[in-house]
Amino acid sequence: MHEVAFTVDVEQDIPPYLDTWEGMEKGFPALLDVLSKHKVRATLFVTGQTAEKFPKLIREASKEHEIGCHSYAHEEFNILSAEDQFKIIQHATKVLIKITGQTPVGFRAPRFRANLDTFVALEHAGYIYDSSRVSYKPSQGIGSAKIIEIPNTLPSIFFLRIPSELSTHIWRFFIASLPVTVLSLHNWELVKMRGARFASRFATGEIALRRLDKLLGYLCTKSRFRPMREIAESKLAASRFR
Ligand SMILES: [Zn+2]
Repeated sequence: MHEVAFTVDVEQDIPPYLDTWEGMEKGFPALLDVLSKHKVRATLFVTGQTAEKFPKLIREASKEHEIGCHSYAHEEFNILSAEDQFKIIQHATKVLIKITGQTPVGFRAPRFRANLDTFVALEHAGYIYDSSRVSYKPSQGIGSAKIIEIPNTLPSIFFLRIPSELSTHIWRFFIASLPVTVLSLHNWELVKMRGARFASRFATGEIALRRLDKLLGYLCTKSRFRPMREIAESKLAASRFR
């Protein structure tokens, strides 16, 4: 059966353009409700800063969903030194462990911007998979790092921000042609965003939440949802038998 990994980047509103947290205050609880309604277990890539600011919400979410790491303060990894990347990953990991009691094994770089140093840092910090690439862009590979790369198939622009009729056509194609589809969105997309560039704020809020509800209802009849961690562990087990 076709599998879907539903992933969410959990952070402040449209970083680095805004410094508000409506996506956490309003969007995140609404997101958890709609996931619970459809019994979907998701993977939440949380920044350390978010976990520190909303510890109760993140702890509660970690009981049902996988918590991955999304940096500490939404740093751009591709412009940082290897040493700085490692320090940030280590610090963010410690914060997430302290708040959830669980060790994250998956990472997504802010703005999908990782480089080969990121993967080495992840391996040294004990991570098993990275999800910092989008599948429609060329891969730089993961170099010599011993981690699994699970690219994103569909960012929200292709399923939350366009009419449902259109996204259903895209979905039919993915369900028919791919064993696993990775969806990604942001918590702040479920709140009407103002004051940012058009590409970030259009079709956010109620309309995105309605489309998400409809999409999950549709996908529950066609696919099986699995957290990324389980998909990565299956890949790891399969590679050991090769
Ligand atoms: Zn992000």
